[in-house]
This record gives sequence, structure tokens and C-alpha cells, in this order.
Amino acid sequence: MPHPAGIGSVKPVNWAYDRAPMIIYWELTNACGLACQHCRATAQPDPDPHELSTDEALALLDDITGFGDPAPHVIMTGGDPLRRADLDQLIVEAQKRGLGVSLAPAVTPLLTAERMAEIKALDIQAISLSLDGSCAEHHDGIRQVPGTFDATLQALADANNVGMPVQINTLVTDTTVHDLDAMYELLTHYDVMQWSLFFLISVGRGTQLKEMSPEEAERTLTKWSQRGREAPFRIKTTEAMQYRRINAERLMAAGKTREQIENSPASRGFGIRDGNGIVFISYLGDATPSGFLPIPVGNVRERSIVDLYRNTELMRALREPEHFKGRCGACEYNRWCGGSRSRAAAWTGDPLETDPLCPYVPQSMREPSMA
Ligand code: SF4
Repeated sequence: MPHPAGIGSVKPVNWAYDRAPMIIYWELTNACGLACQHCRATAQPDPDPHELSTDEALALLDDITGFGDPAPHVIMTGGDPLRRADLDQLIVEAQKRGLGVSLAPAVTPLLTAERMAEIKALDIQAISLSLDGSCAEHHDGIRQVPGTFDATLQALADANNVGMPVQINTLVTDTTVHDLDAMYELLTHYDVMQWSLFFLISVGRGTQLKEMSPEEAERTLTKWSQRGREAPFRIKTTEAMQYRRINAERLMAAGKTREQIENSPASRGFGIRDGNGIVFISYLGDATPSGFLPIPVGNVRERSIVDLYRNTELMRALREPEHFKGRCGACEYNRWCGGSRSRAAAWTGDPLETDPLCPYVPQSMREPSMA
């Protein structure tokens, strides 16, 4: 296999998100009609009276424009963003400010075919739907509301009918991994833009579920890296950044150079991770490096999101993978990957530690016999 040393030695300027994130996840509310087992937000049936008001939300949109050009993309999430009475207004106002918007609605009775058509008419870029099993038994068991599996497929069909691009998010855990083949087969019958495999992190209600072992994760990611080449939709991962290292290893084994990989579509998403290209804003206005790394760096009610993202100590540290600890700090792939900072924090309390889901041993840490 060609030698991958030196990947981290060239700073990929396009992937250094010091100036602005590529994506802002904005949790409009924590109200939601579901009670999913893995919910990061530990969503509640009713809106919190302290969630950002419409005026505060509009002020936040003004602040976001301070990132300049190119502007970050805003993903409006929750809870269930459809529970915000001012949702349509916020979408329109974001677009007026030059911000691209996507939506992550929960599948509840609020997501009717008519509402889907209304959302499409608002000209948002995409929606995401969560589908965690290939059948009702698997999916509804996680979502804890019977009928959600059928309703999700109906929402997917409704989205297809109005030409709305859809990303499917699927939870990957020790117990759901064996269902991925059947899920893939199911999704090929629909028009899906992207399939995101979300590798569970034990935060919120997710602590009730079990993450897979690093070896199982490596096998799973390697398998889907291969299958992704023939898939009718893009397959990406969430909180399993080592998928990029695995993709790069595959391409290098096929003779591609580092430069060729960096200039190919395969490098899409390289470098993006919690705090580097991503920032999360909670329904209360707390800014955190991601939704799964619940360490607030400040609140948008008191300080501009631009300042919080660019200048706070934790955010800056998360953009310096060469200073990460353990294997992730020494890894020759860390500018492309960098590991899940959220999982590192969940497992060790330190977001700069090694991602415990990745078994990779960097070249500089190998025994001579391993090299
Ligand atoms: S050791 Fe860390 S940086 Fe290297 S591939 Fe694994 S998760 Fe990524």
C-alpha cells in the first residue's frame, strides 16, 4: 500500500474553518411529539418558555450574516422544528439574509403531505428524515411511538412527490448494525439524496443504547465505504469521521495520491467535525461545538455567534488537530478526520482526547514490527 505519511503535513486551507462554519445546526425548540431512545436533546412534549423568541431568533439570523461570504448553511432542527409557530417566517428571513436552509422535522402528525408541499414551496434546500430500521418492529422500538415507521416512509414518499431532496439519517449501534443491509435495500426504492449513518454517542437518552466496538465499527465502515461506490445515493457518516481515513486508504491502495484524493469528490466533508466547520445553537441560545458535545462556549443572547465560534478557547482548540491527545493527535490523517470530539468527550470528559471508536494506530506510534 502506498505510504500515507505526510497527509497532515500540508494544511488544507479549504478545510480550516477558522473564519466560519460550513453548517450551523440550530435547535429551534426542544418540543417534540416523539421520545426517541437516542434523543440528544432529551426532547419534551411542550416548548420551553425560555426558548429563543421570534425577535431573538431574527437577531441571531442577523448575527449569522456576520460570518461573511460564503455564508454558513443553516439546518433548522429540534426537538421538532415544526413545533415553532414562526418556522416559516424564520426560513424566509434566513433566506432574505442570503442563508441556505435545510430542515430536520420529526415525523409526527404535523408532517402531513400538505405541510411537506408548503415546506417545498418555501424553497429550502433539503430535509432530513430519521429511519432507524428496515421494518416497524426495529424502527418503532427506537422511536417509541407505534406507526412511526409507516409514517416515515409516507413522509419520504410525500417528499419524493413534491421533489424535495431528502437525507435519511440512520442510527448505528451495536443492535441496529445488522439491519443496515435491509435498510439499504429499502432505501433504493425511493429517491434519496444522501444516507447518513449516525454512529451513536452516549449523550442525552442515547446513554440507554450501546455503541459498537471499535473493531465492529471498522468492519462496518469498511464495508459501506466499498458499497458506497455503487449506491444510488451518497453514503456519509455522522460522528464516525474515520470513514474518511478508510475511504482515503481505499483510494491510496488503488494508487491515488494525496493530491488526487484532496481534489476528488471523495474529499467532500473532509476536515469537518465538531467545532471545525460545525457549530450548534440550542433552543436556549447556548452555542456548543456540536449537538453531541454539550459544552457551551457562550450564549447568543449575550455574545455574537461569530465571536463565539471564532474566538472561544474550546472552539479554537477543536480546530488544531495536531494538538489533540493520544492517537488522534499523532495521526497522519487527523486533518482529514480528527475523530469525533463528541465521543472523546462523552467517554473521557476531554474533547481533545482520542476518539475511542477508532482502532487505528498512527504510523508514528507503531512498534517497528507493525510498520
Ligand atoms: S486515530 Fe483519530 S484522527 Fe486517526 S483515523 Fe482514527 S479517529 Fe481519525
